[in-house]
Amino acid sequence: MLTSDIKLKKSTAKTPASDPTNPYEIMIRQFDVAAKIIGLDHDAYNVLKTPARQYLVSLPVKMDNGKFQVFEGYRIIHNTSRGPSKGGIRYSPEVNLDEVKALAAWMTWKCAIADIPYGGAKGGITCDPFKMSENELERLTRAYTAAMSDVFGVDKDIPAPDVSTGPREMAWIVDEYSKLKGAFTPGVVTGKPLHLGGSEGRLEATGRGVYTATVAAIKKLKINPVKALAAVQGFGNVGSITAKHMASHGIRVVAISDHTGAWYNPKGINIERAIDYRTGNHGVLKGFSDGKLISQEELLTLDVDILAPCALENQIRRSNASEIKAPLIVEGANGPTTSGADEILNEKGITVIPDILANGGGVTVSYFEWTQNRFGYYYPEDEINSRNDRSMNRAFNNVWKVAQQHKVPLRIAAYIFALEKVSKALKSRGGY
Ligand code: NAD
Repeated sequence: MLTSDIKLKKSTAKTPASDPTNPYEIMIRQFDVAAKIIGLDHDAYNVLKTPARQYLVSLPVKMDNGKFQVFEGYRIIHNTSRGPSKGGIRYSPEVNLDEVKALAAWMTWKCAIADIPYGGAKGGITCDPFKMSENELERLTRAYTAAMSDVFGVDKDIPAPDVSTGPREMAWIVDEYSKLKGAFTPGVVTGKPLHLGGSEGRLEATGRGVYTATVAAIKKLKINPVKALAAVQGFGNVGSITAKHMASHGIRVVAISDHTGAWYNPKGINIERAIDYRTGNHGVLKGFSDGKLISQEELLTLDVDILAPCALENQIRRSNASEIKAPLIVEGANGPTTSGADEILNEKGITVIPDILANGGGVTVSYFEWTQNRFGYYYPEDEINSRNDRSMNRAFNNVWKVAQQHKVPLRIAAYIFALEKVSKALKSRGGY
């Protein structure tokens, strides 16, 4: 359990010495603050700050033009003290080792906060899915699955969707893995299509959870939801569903964005219409007309009550944090705020619901999907949704309580809660 092995070949990924936007360094800085507050012992500290296993593979894929292209694929298993490792797979040109290491560690903390019996992992492939055909993406996904077939496993490591992957990719993984193992194994991934062992409620689970955490926070902050304005960055799975739930419960979503642009409408954007537009427009908002085009930076600094960054890391930085006006930030994305920005936001009295708490609804319903696959018995959507809501509210209240007790921001409180839980499991299991 306490081993750390670099497999297959050395990383060529850039790992800057000290970079305020390096997600792994940010994770360590946050971890350090919490570890110090709880007096985490040296042994647990050393084990938990490093990933247990790091896999790096080269994936030769035949492209549609008949030539081979070699892609770099990662899987990082941060910790398995509380159960098999769990975490999504990301396709993006920006994927690199330190990003995946940070995302894997955040999964360990997130599962502890959501109180589900998993450790943390993350995977990714450095590629540009927007420039690849469906057939190329399928071959790439199958090559990655084959390379990781001894890493993945129902009781070992269970992937899920992340940026630019979804039910389609999960179905390819089930198929490839099942062929390689000679047995139909839907429980090897979550986030599958419903007709292939997916769970009701999984597609919407993360955004629904982000919304539930938002409601819990606005009650504490005494923000009136019917008068509240929100800006949502990112309009993929997490951002669009977060915006949809906010809008359908009376919060006026005045700005949305994706990588093709940002749109502002002070009267409120019709989110259902925006989702329909995106769905019929190759998955992007480009050309959307219900609002005026603004810059990505403008969206982040709008005078709103709730800002929900639901796209990528490092969107709120030291350089723009002082311009943020929203009193509440809900991190749908993983790592959208740098440590430097956090200091400024704390000084300004802005409440941040951290990623490892706010977006835990996704992995919670992934856990439900996995248990359903193991039982072979499936639950109706209302039951899954209400369990997700309960779990999110419980997690929020637990972290809120720790924040009050230690007089720390919610992010540090979330780390404290998670570290105590994971280190307890680690110590009970012992080591060699
Ligand atoms: P997605 O691929 O479905 O959507 C990503 C969205 O972000 C797209 O709309 C894309 O256009 C947009 N985007 C990319 N770069 C942008 C930029 N510079 N400015 C504005 N928008 C930009 O991915 P997702 O699944 O929605 O994941 C989004 C974030 O949420 C990631 O950080 C991911 O790790 C996190 N997350 C996802 C899940 C899940 O269940 N999908 C669960 C937990 C956390």
